[in-house]
Amino acid sequence: MNAKPVKKESPSQRPRILVVEDEQDLQEVLRYALAREGYQVICADTGEKALELARRESPNLILLDLMLPGVDGLNVCRTLKSQTETDAIPVIMVTAKGEEPDIVVGLELGADDYIVKPFSQRVLLARIKSVLRRGSASGTADRSNQPIKTGPLTIDRERHDAKLDGQSLDLTATEFRLLTLLAAKPGRVFTRQQIIESVHGGLAAVTDRSVDVQMVALRRKLGDHGAMLETVRGVGYRFKE
Ligand code: CA
Repeated sequence: MNAKPVKKESPSQRPRILVVEDEQDLQEVLRYALAREGYQVICADTGEKALELARRESPNLILLDLMLPGVDGLNVCRTLKSQTETDAIPVIMVTAKGEEPDIVVGLELGADDYIVKPFSQRVLLARIKSVLRRGSASGTADRSNQPIKTGPLTIDRERHDAKLDGQSLDLTATEFRLLTLLAAKPGRVFTRQQIIESVHGGLAAVTDRSVDVQMVALRRKLGDHGAMLETVRGVGYRFKE
């Protein structure tokens, strides 16, 4: 017999997701849906419990409802991102409609993404996959000088050259940094404040409004592909995934 050994995935190799949700029905639905996709699932129904499990179980991702009794989701996020044992764990915030200001605060605290209730399981699973993928990419070797290729766009960071369909774009230094920031993480939403800090080094003179103006100019230069840069109403901008 020379049958190849069947390599079974052990439970410890499956990504572990911490679901923080105080609504029991929704928690159960999520637990079931994620387990069916092959994730290990642990659940917390309060912020305190979430922080304890995050430290003890080192999950690969946290799905964090913002509206929790006691320590709310934003404070959980703030604590997670301020402690070295937990600051690298990606966080997807779960919010209700109309909570854009909280979403902005959460992203600025270091949350990776958000999803608005009610959401479909398909969309949730896609977000989780995307965040896990981005998370593992940033956790490995420093690729900050690798070219970025996404759809028709290629950005050569070392040469400071961005090409669209093979044609070099005539971008200002600021526009180049802006495009690079967004295109390096397709699907990730950046708030205006995060853009100011990253692209302009947090210059006080740069306002939210000037970010909008630069975005309009950049879109115009992308021509037919301008829609790759999406406005996320009330939150910020992202490069279309
Ligand atoms: Ca809730």
